[in-house]
Amino acid sequence: MREHREVARGLLALNRYRAVIFDIGGAVDLEFAWEMALDGAIAAACGLEGIRVDPAMVEEASEQAVAAFAPDVARHMIETLCGGEPTTVARVARRVEAMTGQLDAFQIRPEIESLLKRLKARGLVLGARELRWQRLERAGIAYLFVRDPDVPATECILVGDRIDADIAPAKAAGMATIQFRSGRWRRQRPRSEAETPDAVVTDVAELEVAILERLKG
Ligand SMILES: [Mg+2]
Repeated sequence: MREHREVARGLLALNRYRAVIFDIGGAVDLEFAWEMALDGAIAAACGLEGIRVDPAMVEEASEQAVAAFAPDVARHMIETLCGGEPTTVARVARRVEAMTGQLDAFQIRPEIESLLKRLKARGLVLGARELRWQRLERAGIAYLFVRDPDVPATECILVGDRIDADIAPAKAAGMATIQFRSGRWRRQRPRSEAETPDAVVTDVAELEVAILERLKG
């Protein structure tokens, strides 16, 4: 076993990639509960301001926000549903924040923890793009990640669900990029070569193949 690992590390040394950086929300945390809660809160807050919206309208507003590459998706959805009226938009946004601000759901993606363990056993450094580290601790997976991986961007593979917030900036920094199509951003598509990920995956098995392909160089 030990020899195996040393051989694996030796092979790894020949490869340019030494770290895999995970966008936690979307790639590791499924975020289904969070997305449902946010959509529900937006609909409820609109209702309290006298704007009636149904689930299809919320879904459409979400699609528009994703297609527009809106950095603040909730804000963009609220503006769409409220017709852009500034006072109403601000009130709805405050209500949504009050309803969802304390929400702390973490739904670990099935099979992802064992993949993280396999990657770590290969000697790869695992990084996490997550501002609230306590979430990883509560989910029991913090130990798998290095908090501040000291690896140059050109030696990193980034895994994320958003083209705008994950893929494009990581690619600009020189990382290899893998888009994990999932949840709200599953239909987001690159608009240019600079936003095009090196690989697109939809489940953990595909993700493992895509990472191993990059390691082969
Ligand atoms: Mg994400």
